[in-house]
Amino acid sequence: MSECRDECGVVVLYHLPGGEVSPLAPDGDPNKISRLIPRMLLDLQNRGQLAAGITVYNPEKNNILNTYKDVGMVTEVFQLSRRSRQQQILNQYEGPAAIGHVRYATCGGDDPNYAQPFERKHLRRYKWFSFCFNGQIANYQKLRDKILDDPTAHLSRDTDAELFLYYLSTAIAYYNKRNAADQMPPADLLGVFQEACSHFDGAYTIAYLDAMGNLFVGRDPQGMKPLCYSIDGPLFAAASESNALLNLGIDPEKIKYLGAGELITIINGKVEIRQAIPSTRRAHCFFEWIYFANVASTLETRSVYLARKALGEVLADMEDVPLVNFGTGERDLIVVPVPDTSKAAAAAMAYKLGVPCLEGLIHNRYVGRTFIEGGKSRMDRARMKYTPLREVLEGKRILLVDDSIVRSTTMVAMLKRIREVGKPKEIHVRITCPPVIAPCFYGVDMPTVGELFAPQFLRGGPNTAEHGAKMAEVLGADSLRFIPVSSIESCVGLPKKDLCCACVDAEYPTPEGIERYRYALNQVAWNGAPNDACKNDHCNCCRK
Ligand code: SF4
Repeated sequence: MSECRDECGVVVLYHLPGGEVSPLAPDGDPNKISRLIPRMLLDLQNRGQLAAGITVYNPEKNNILNTYKDVGMVTEVFQLSRRSRQQQILNQYEGPAAIGHVRYATCGGDDPNYAQPFERKHLRRYKWFSFCFNGQIANYQKLRDKILDDPTAHLSRDTDAELFLYYLSTAIAYYNKRNAADQMPPADLLGVFQEACSHFDGAYTIAYLDAMGNLFVGRDPQGMKPLCYSIDGPLFAAASESNALLNLGIDPEKIKYLGAGELITIINGKVEIRQAIPSTRRAHCFFEWIYFANVASTLETRSVYLARKALGEVLADMEDVPLVNFGTGERDLIVVPVPDTSKAAAAAMAYKLGVPCLEGLIHNRYVGRTFIEGGKSRMDRARMKYTPLREVLEGKRILLVDDSIVRSTTMVAMLKRIREVGKPKEIHVRITCPPVIAPCFYGVDMPTVGELFAPQFLRGGPNTAEHGAKMAEVLGADSLRFIPVSSIESCVGLPKKDLCCACVDAEYPTPEGIERYRYALNQVAWNGAPNDACKNDHCNCCRK
């Protein structure tokens, strides 16, 4: 099975025609609205640092659709620190409508061909389009095999972007032929979205722009990936996260959240929002609030900051490490966040416990994308990621707050380094997420079941104190505690039935997720021991 995943961010700007000019249009010129796309992408840089790009619609240019993209951070791709080069790029890619993208992925590496948006040129304007997406098609392999059953078909890359391209192109050809026969306008974007998505099982938001100047933004029927939008006078804007709209200067009262399975179309300058695909179950990814989203964003009306603060308060309620050192009588307990996603939780936990929250770990934020000598292995990179501060940590008992443990490599390396450099008395690890026990098939980069840390101890059973002690020992911690699954809904503020929590409870919200997890469990036998989590009665491979 392909393990190619795209964890990305999308942005959209469309200055509607009609005479009124948005106050946000640069120089009061609607045709310059696309110049705001790079700054929106900067606000989504947390969602992808591998590549960035833009497609602009401008009917006054020969290249009615024009795409610019490359590998690198937004500042690198758009040359934001070199003013003249940046202006050249923005001048060249200028228009009244644009879509933009940042990409993080497990495939494609530094190949610019994998960067988005993907533009498909055509001599007919209604067949010439560009699109970008955030998410993952869980039934990727099945669809790929089906397409390649046709000996005349060819897929050149190992990415689900090609599936979007294939099914969108097929749907456009079908709808335009049908509509031409019916003497209808050649823009049934609702039909195109419905037809293309009828093949997909997975999580996605898509932004699509064609050379007729028509646009759609759509969301999968479970609403797993976030998307918000605003219609403010003549300006339509959409983004994966609200901080991209807020920082543009859009009134927070005018930021709305696209519903699961909903589609926004702009056809001939008219905006319409419709339920495109029936949504029988919502499954917003809870991990967005824990880790993925920017702490300044609001998703589905729930603030990411407040969710993380609530998680910290739950950790405080669970805490049983004595506030005063029994041996010495000192108040030597401190809370230390692992930067940056855990800061809100750590501050709330410390406040509730009445102990200091101190920055004992400094994030070496520029290491991540460099090729530094001595940084070859995952362990090396993990060690180089943070610098412990002895001035803060020495002689202290630490409650170290982090957002998750997936493989444990980073945590093991970090704890070793904290002990070596920081010289604390004790390290108690507190995690603002339940144990990750199952892979994500919906676009968040997680390894196979066998590579995950927690399942090797839990083996499908509950997380007991005994398991916690064993895990702490392997990590090199004095103790370890996770948020329970039951606390998620109160912290996020949405009912559990409306959330996807599959990576921590193995309850996948789509048929393909259920099937792939069953398959994944059958692939794993921990050191030859029986896999108690496997519910497949017909297979006895790990019990032999
Ligand atoms: S499996 Fe986990 S990471 Fe993936 S969509 Fe569901 S909650 Fe999010």
